[in-house]
Amino acid sequence: MSDCIFCRIASGAIPSEKILDNEHFFVIQDIHPKAPVHLLLIPYEHIPNLLDLEAKHAALLGKMLVASSQLAQKYDLSGFRTIINSGQSAGQEVFHLHFHLLANTGSAQKKLPGF
Ligand code: 5GP
Ligand code: ZN
Repeated sequence: MSDCIFCRIASGAIPSEKILDNEHFFVIQDIHPKAPVHLLLIPYEHIPNLLDLEAKHAALLGKMLVASSQLAQKYDLSGFRTIINSGQSAGQEVFHLHFHLLANTGSAQKKLPGF
């Protein structure tokens, strides 16, 4: 979808530093971080939010959760919060499914690109 900011990042139309990338999803840093580490896990498929999820997406979401664990190891996160906003009334601003991964671990910042 050309008017979707995350589809534009996914296609490369908007350049980004993908800190993890595979055929199913990619990970970038949030442009307005709400914690020392604030990552966004974004599927390539344009799924607006969890309200639009179908059974066929189960494996994709499982892979994204496993990736959050791998990211925690990679960046020495001793713990993290995962947030998925679904719907305007829940505070969703970008209507392309994404997981927020937030952590306060100080040392992790230094390993992330741009820090
Ligand atoms: P939502 O409220 O939809 O769950 O969160 C959307 C998130 O996307 C916000 O935290 C916002 O800062 C982030 N965001 C919006 N536009 C961009 C962008 O162009 N690049 C990046 N990296 N993050 C963005
Ligand atoms: Zn999209």
